[in-house]
Amino acid sequence: MTVINEKTKTNTPPSALSENKEKLVEVKNVKKYFPVKGGILRRTVGHVKAVDDVSFNIYKGETLGVVGESGSGKSTLGRMILRLIDPTEGQIIFDEKDISTASQRKVRSSRKDMQMIFQDPYGSLNPRMSVGELIEEPMLLHEKISKDERKKRVVELLETVGLGGEARFKYPHEFSGGQRQRIGIARALSTKPKFIIGDEPVSALDVSVQSQVLNLMSQLQKEFNLTYLFIAHDLSVVKHISDRVAVMYLGRIAEIAPKRSLYKEPLHPYTKALISAVPEPDVTKKREKIKLEGDMPSPSNPPTGCPFHTRCPEAHDRCKAERPELTDMGDEHYVACHLYTEEDGTVKRPLH
Ligand code: SF4
Repeated sequence: MTVINEKTKTNTPPSALSENKEKLVEVKNVKKYFPVKGGILRRTVGHVKAVDDVSFNIYKGETLGVVGESGSGKSTLGRMILRLIDPTEGQIIFDEKDISTASQRKVRSSRKDMQMIFQDPYGSLNPRMSVGELIEEPMLLHEKISKDERKKRVVELLETVGLGGEARFKYPHEFSGGQRQRIGIARALSTKPKFIIGDEPVSALDVSVQSQVLNLMSQLQKEFNLTYLFIAHDLSVVKHISDRVAVMYLGRIAEIAPKRSLYKEPLHPYTKALISAVPEPDVTKKREKIKLEGDMPSPSNPPTGCPFHTRCPEAHDRCKAERPELTDMGDEHYVACHLYTEEDGTVKRPLH
């Protein structure tokens, strides 16, 4: 456990436990503000604060699940880490290289090591390209290998994801949703990446197919020593695949913790509400569902103080005035909520 009897407010996890692990990705105080244009002259009249001062690390070989409602900023965050969009502020370090301000040419050389699996496998696969061409395309962009080697790798990848080498002659429309996602996974693996972001990769699939794709991703992680950032809108999907889970609300991290600790002992009222909606596998156990009132406020006009105070059943005066910072509760469990700190930032009740 980290020292928690002094001021432990922090915006930058990790704690002492995580310091022993090797970092692959470091996200430091990252913001993404999209300008809002208005008036005849189309001047900037405000900003949508899609991601607002977020910091965390992803360690080699782990899966970090990121969960939040639509508008929480989770997909924008994923796209910034791959530098598909530029951060407004902050630093993103990938494999010891600062990619937040690097030129697109330099980013391109790192992109071979970072790939993405998209939510809609059909929309992300060009229907006019054969499956073989789709899987080969990233290799053509990022690697200098012969045609024969590329073909060999395409066949191996299709076998690895359970489709068989002959699938390379077919087109995406000839496959089911789950099979198309397997094609998306084979394509993401084609450059032998170290890191994969799954942006809601199973949300569009039937529940039975979801678990097959999740199992495949877990198996590939072990086989190829992959590190995952797994984005989802619901906690039940990330439960099995994640080592740690970050819960986002209105562009900020509300809570981040190892999976077991987060599901067993959620601290943030928003996480508690999300967990209460996860179906309980043991039907004899009853879980009271916490219903949140209202919708998430607009990220262009976020509330003062705690971003969750307009919907929080435990909100009090301090919540409207002061923004809670992520606070170390011990054992890698961080929460941004005034229920756990004194006004000077000391932790009221450490977890362990
Ligand atoms: Fe609720 Fe206040 Fe905690 Fe925000 S800081 S989650 S409003 S109790």
